[in-house]
Amino acid sequence: MPLKVLFVSSEVFPLIKTGGLADVSGSLPTALQGLGVDIRILMPGYSPVLNQLKDLQPIASVHHLPHIGHAELLLGTIQDTQVKVIVIKAVSLYERDGGPYSDAHGHEWQDNPIRFGVLSKVASILASDHSPIADWQPDIVHCNDWQTGLTPAYMRLTEHSKAKSIISLHNMAFQGCYPPRWVTTLGLPSTGFSIEGFEYHGQVSFLKAGIFYADAISTVSPRYAKEIQTTAFGFGLEGLLTKRGDEIKGILNGIETDEWNPETDPALVENYSSAEIAGKAQVKKALQAKLGLHIDANAPLLGVVSRLTHQKGLDMLLPHLQKLIDSGCQFALLGGGDSDLEDSFQKLAAHNPGRISVTIGYNEPLSHQIMAGCDMFIMPSRFEPCGLNQLYGLAYGTPPIVNATGGLADSVIDSNAAHIKNKTANGFVMVEASADGLIACIWRALEMFQHDQKTWRQIQKNGMAQDLSWGKSAQEYLVMYQNLSQ
Ligand code: ADP
Repeated sequence: MPLKVLFVSSEVFPLIKTGGLADVSGSLPTALQGLGVDIRILMPGYSPVLNQLKDLQPIASVHHLPHIGHAELLLGTIQDTQVKVIVIKAVSLYERDGGPYSDAHGHEWQDNPIRFGVLSKVASILASDHSPIADWQPDIVHCNDWQTGLTPAYMRLTEHSKAKSIISLHNMAFQGCYPPRWVTTLGLPSTGFSIEGFEYHGQVSFLKAGIFYADAISTVSPRYAKEIQTTAFGFGLEGLLTKRGDEIKGILNGIETDEWNPETDPALVENYSSAEIAGKAQVKKALQAKLGLHIDANAPLLGVVSRLTHQKGLDMLLPHLQKLIDSGCQFALLGGGDSDLEDSFQKLAAHNPGRISVTIGYNEPLSHQIMAGCDMFIMPSRFEPCGLNQLYGLAYGTPPIVNATGGLADSVIDSNAAHIKNKTANGFVMVEASADGLIACIWRALEMFQHDQKTWRQIQKNGMAQDLSWGKSAQEYLVMYQNLSQ
C-alpha cells in the first residue's frame, strides 16, 4: 500500500505564490508522487486557486471549525502535474482581493489566526477517525511553516489522530503569535497554553505549537538545521529546538527543472545550455533593451530578484552600488517590500539612467529573464533557510554571490584557488556579512569575470552541471515518512 500523505501549505506554485514556500509546495509533492507516494495537498480556497484547479468537485463538508462552524471541501488537480489538491471553500475567509497574508497595502489580514487556524483544524480532522473523507486517510500529515503549525496541536489534543505529523520549517522569522484570547476562539484546550505547549511569552504561537507537538521536524538545509538552534537564528525558539536538536533533519530544497531550465524556458528570447552558452548573450541584450539599460555586452550586469526586507541583506549593497556603476557595471533589480529600501534603490536608478533598472513588483517572466540575462546574481541574505534564487542562478550560468549562511552556504562553493582546481567552484561566498564584505566579494567576482574568462566559464559550467532537481531531496523526505510510519 502506498503511503498516504496530506501536504498542508498556505501557498502552492503555480496556484498562488509569495515566495519559496510556494515553489517547494508545488514541486515536492510532484516529486513524491513520482516516487509512488499517494499525496494530496490541503490549502485555502483563495480565488486564484479556485480559478486555476482542474476538475474541481465538492467532496465533503467539514464541521466543528473555529469561528465559521463549517466549510465545504473541494478536490481538484493541478493542471501540469496532476497532483490532487483539497481546497477549503470558505468565502468569508479566503475569497478576497489582496495577497494570502495581507491586503493590497501590505497590512496583515486581522483574521489570520482564524484563516490559518481553520486550515490547521481541517488538516487535523482529515487525519482523524471522524474525517468526512472516509475513503482517504493520511498516514502522515506534512505541515509547512507557522500557517499550519496548529495542526500537530489539534491532532494531538483535540482530534486524537493516529496519523503522524511533520513540520517543515521554511523560515523561523515568521511565527504567527497572537494574543491569548485566541485560545478559546480557536477551540484549543487551555491546558496547552503553557510553556509545555503552544504558549510563547504570553501569546499563542502557531509555529511553537508545530515544533512542540509534531512527531518530526525538518528544515530546508543542513546548515539552517544547526543555525536555528542558536540565539542568532532561532528567533526565540532555539531552546525548544535544541531539545529536539538530534531529530531536526535538514534537507536542501531542489528546484523545479521544468520551470527553471535555460534550455527550455519560454520566457527567454533564446534558450541555451552549458555546452551552447552563446544564447545567454542574446538574453542579456534583450534584457538590457527591455529594462532601458545601455546595450553593452561587455558591461558586467549584476542582478537581484528578491523580497526587499532586512533578511535579504540588500541594504548592504546600497553604500557601494554607485561605485560599482561608476566602474562600468550595470544593475537590474526586481522585488518589493520595505518602502525605504524600495525608495533607496529607485533613487539610485533615477540617478543612473541606462545603468540601473529597478522594477518594484512581482513579475514571474522578468524574474526568469533577470536570472538568465545577468552575469552574476547577488544574494547577501543575513539568514537564508534554503534560498532558491541562488540555485536558479547556478542552473542559469549566473554565478551567485552570497553570504555564508543557511542554504546559501550549503549550495554555493566559493571560487577560491582550491575549489577552482578541483572543479567544484560555482559562485562567490562573502567572508564577512557586511557592506564591505559584500563589495569585496563582488570585486573578486568582477576581477575574474573581466580578466579570466576561461575560469569564469568553468565556474558557470560547474554550476550548470549540478543536479539541482527534487529527486534526491524527495527521496530524503520519503525516508523520513517511512521511518515515522513504522
Ligand atoms: P523567500 O522565499 O525567502 O522569498 P527564496 O529565494 O527561497 O526566498 O524564494 C523566492 C522565490 O520567489 C523565488 O522563486 C523567486 O524567483 C521569487 N521571487 C521573489 N521576488 C520576486 C519578484 N519580485 N518577482 C518574481 N519572483 C519573485
